[in-house]
Amino acid sequence: MTPALPLTAPAGGDCAPVLRERNDSDVLRERGQREVFCGLTGIIWLHRKVQDAFFLVVGSRTCAHLLQSAAGVMVFAEPRFGTAIIEERDLAGMADCNEELDRVVDRLLTRRPDIKLLFLVGSCPSEVIKLDLSRAAQRLSGKHSPNVRVLNYSGSGIETTFTEGEDACLASLVPVLPAEPAGAAPALMIVGALPDVVEDQFLRLFAQLGIGPVHCLPARRAADLPPVGPNTRFLLAQPFLGETARSLEDRGAQRLDALFPFGAEGTTHWLHAAAQAFGIDEMHFRSVIAPGRERAKRAIDHCRERLAGKRIFFLPDSQLEIPLARFLHQELGMAPIEVGTPYLHRRHMAQELALLPADTVISEGQDVDRQLDRVRLAQPDLTVCGLGLANPLEAEGLTTKWAIELVFSPIHGFDQAGDLAELFARPLRRRDMLRV
Ligand code: SF4
Repeated sequence: MTPALPLTAPAGGDCAPVLRERNDSDVLRERGQREVFCGLTGIIWLHRKVQDAFFLVVGSRTCAHLLQSAAGVMVFAEPRFGTAIIEERDLAGMADCNEELDRVVDRLLTRRPDIKLLFLVGSCPSEVIKLDLSRAAQRLSGKHSPNVRVLNYSGSGIETTFTEGEDACLASLVPVLPAEPAGAAPALMIVGALPDVVEDQFLRLFAQLGIGPVHCLPARRAADLPPVGPNTRFLLAQPFLGETARSLEDRGAQRLDALFPFGAEGTTHWLHAAAQAFGIDEMHFRSVIAPGRERAKRAIDHCRERLAGKRIFFLPDSQLEIPLARFLHQELGMAPIEVGTPYLHRRHMAQELALLPADTVISEGQDVDRQLDRVRLAQPDLTVCGLGLANPLEAEGLTTKWAIELVFSPIHGFDQAGDLAELFARPLRRRDMLRV
């Protein structure tokens, strides 16, 4: 297979990409202890995106604490998520959890008539007691229809990583998307929760290109679920949406294969995949994207001197690792030593992997102690890792970047490319200042 190349040669010199195929034996697979947040974390950004949805976690006090501290919610705010706490008597089988859940949902929906879409989010405790949330969602949907739709997904920490929460949430929406009308013209769907400002930038670019209609999954309001069918072409905005993509394909939609929209090259490639699918004239495409692309390149250049040639090690955390390593290598000349990812989706990552240097180790899964040994041996300039590992590594003299910050920051598209580069430059600048 030949990977599609970016429209122009990437930043040249010593970071020119070595295109290569990787086969399964090239990937280091580890299945040991892991250090990641659970899928409940996705609620922190999803609840801001879908403005009339509510996320009700069916879990323990630990789950409630995780959400509360991660979101930093004010106690007097009317939040769009909460936890129905499973008490000890529920765990001991002394109470009917379904009845209690129905009572909690009734109370919530009576008090909050603005809620139009309710997600019941499973957790480790709800899975341990085998509470069937899909049946509960069906039952409650019937009861509260047509005002409120009730869906369910799992955010459990058992064998998952935190961005899977968004994948599970969006996948739960796919079966309830309306079917596109018979004979509908081709439509584009952007899949993945993006900050509104970034989504608007992409929608403006697609409008200028003459591509439309364009829908987003998730939509900002529950009533605006995008239609889906064989004339739907979709672009993944996030690299961790394997299950959502599969569900959309099951409904006939076609995924447009592209680099993820990080940096000038990734964003160009992503937009170009849509332009090709919709038969947009090449000259028109280039003229529309030129201003944004140039802005992105200029903004990225500010960090180039600090980052070029620096060695970077990604521990598996957000599933953004491979596209970000590609961006840092291709556009800033960084040298990725090892790029760890919790899961490797070969099909979705094929073009990204082909642009990484031949000697970069790709690892899937984690055996944290062994991986930390490799970090210590390599002594990278920058290590991207979870919160729990960052402080100990800093104490050992290594410079780190919190992976979760990359999920919470707007980093997609031309106008965020400079900020994305800056997120990696900042820890190195801080290190240099501390050394002086
Ligand atoms: S879902 Fe599991 S891992 Fe996540 S906070 Fe609750 S108990 Fe902890």
